Amino acid sequence: MTTINQPTISNGDIARPTYLEINLSQLSHNYQAIQQAVAPAVVMPILKANAYGHGLVEIARHLVSLDVPYLGVAFLEEGIMLRQAGIQTPILVMGGIIGNQIPIFLQHDLTITASSVEKLQQIDTAAQQMGVRAKVHLKIDTGMERIGVHYYNAHTLLEAALQCRHCDVEGIYSHFANADAADLTSAQVQLVRFEGVLAFYAERGMPPPRLRHMANSGGILQLPASHLDMVRAGILLYGVYPAAEVARTVAVRPCLSWKSRVVYFKVVPPHHPVSYGSTWQSDHQVRVVTVPVGYGDGYFRRMSDLAEVIIHGRRYPVVGRICMDQLMVNIEWDSAYNNDEVILLGETDGAVITCEELADWAGTIPYEILTNINTRVPRVYVK
Ligand SMILES: *Cc1c(COP(=O)(O)O)cnc(C)c1O
Repeated sequence: MTTINQPTISNGDIARPTYLEINLSQLSHNYQAIQQAVAPAVVMPILKANAYGHGLVEIARHLVSLDVPYLGVAFLEEGIMLRQAGIQTPILVMGGIIGNQIPIFLQHDLTITASSVEKLQQIDTAAQQMGVRAKVHLKIDTGMERIGVHYYNAHTLLEAALQCRHCDVEGIYSHFANADAADLTSAQVQLVRFEGVLAFYAERGMPPPRLRHMANSGGILQLPASHLDMVRAGILLYGVYPAAEVARTVAVRPCLSWKSRVVYFKVVPPHHPVSYGSTWQSDHQVRVVTVPVGYGDGYFRRMSDLAEVIIHGRRYPVVGRICMDQLMVNIEWDSAYNNDEVILLGETDGAVITCEELADWAGTIPYEILTNINTRVPRVYVK
């Protein structure tokens, strides 16, 4: 068991009763389930945004112990943090780059996304000046309109890549806008466009880059033809499905629970409103407990008067406005004592609160629930 984001205190206990418990064995199971589903393609775990809230370095270390072939992050800084933690696995930085970042990529042996001819040439020049070889993946825009060379101009990038003397162009990729939808028409169109771009190599009788990749979680689940040489597994790796309507063709389970403890118990008389704004009150006497977690931890304030938590295997409503550091729960006339466990997200004794439920209460998607959990919340790793 390892914790992060915690001050060191003498008895070794965690200082704060609110924490995320991350089950690394479940993460292994999810990785293996995805690996089996996509073989012979390989899996690149995506670790952006603090590994979807699970903790960048700890999750990377665990995945490296499973011999993952590649890791993916969004930003240069995330890649540097992994290198500084001693991770030697290849790392693809998927985001757009600015020219003066290139030498830093090269210093840290991070794989660069070349999303235009100009950027590819800058990479080649920087590598030449530094006397190193740059690892590059070419990025093709097949319909996301985010970064990458449009599929209808892609030959310019592919031809420029053939001229680079200081780059190892080991990959070429694209990204789906709608692979998790029930209607896969637009995803199919994107895949056909990407296949059209890849035909460049066959037409010239030359091998394509070693790693052709396109599938995110939605593509892994719903578009086997998009698995190619490698898939980029993000949310699915963490055991959460990318959308409610997606086909659940790979069985995964969440590896994260969010827990806290009761820090205060009281009886609230009828018509005495609870919390800021006095938005909620009971017409009868109730027992209300206070839990030390709030929107300052990433428990969205929008969920006020909507969210539920689990105490002793039963669900109870969060009442009144969620505060920055605390929230109140109506347990009616049941009992709960100081230090009793409160589950905000996760499963116990048959009761469960899912990421999807939190997303519905907050008016968002499971991705944002996970990535929004603040670094103030300690992560505790169990096997
Ligand atoms: C975030 C991201 C992924 C992973 O997406 P999931 O839906 O979480 O699997 C894959 N590829 C790119 C380019 C991304 O930005």
